[in-house]
Amino acid sequence: MNAFAIGLYEFQVKDGRYEAIVDLENKTCTCREFQLDQLPRAHAFTAMRVHNVPYESKCSKYYKSKYLMIAYSELIHPVGDQSDWIPPKDVCYEVVYISSSGGLFY
Ligand SMILES: [Zn+2]
Repeated sequence: MNAFAIGLYEFQVKDGRYEAIVDLENKTCTCREFQLDQLPRAHAFTAMRVHNVPYESKCSKYYKSKYLMIAYSELIHPVGDQSDWIPPKDVCYEVVYISSSGGLFY
C-alpha cells in the first residue's frame, strides 16, 4: 500500500482493491475501521508510516496501559455458558461482517 497526501491531514491510500481516504486529524477512514476501532488499521497505519506520524498519537487513550489497568481493576464475573444466555431479540438479528483486516462492520 502507498499513501498520497491530499491535504494537511488527509491521505489517499490505495490497497489494490479499495481506495481509502484517511483523515488523521479526525481519526477517520472511508472504510470506517479507524473510527470504529479507534485504532489505526491498515489504511491509517500506511498513511502514518509514509508520513512519519507516531502510531501511538492516533490510538484511543482507552488502549493505553493506564486505562486497561483501570478497566480490569474490578472483579470480572464469568458470563456462564453461551447456551444459557438470553440475548435481546434485536441483537439476535444483527449481522456483523468482518473485513479482511479483522475490522467489524454492522
Ligand atoms: Zn481504512
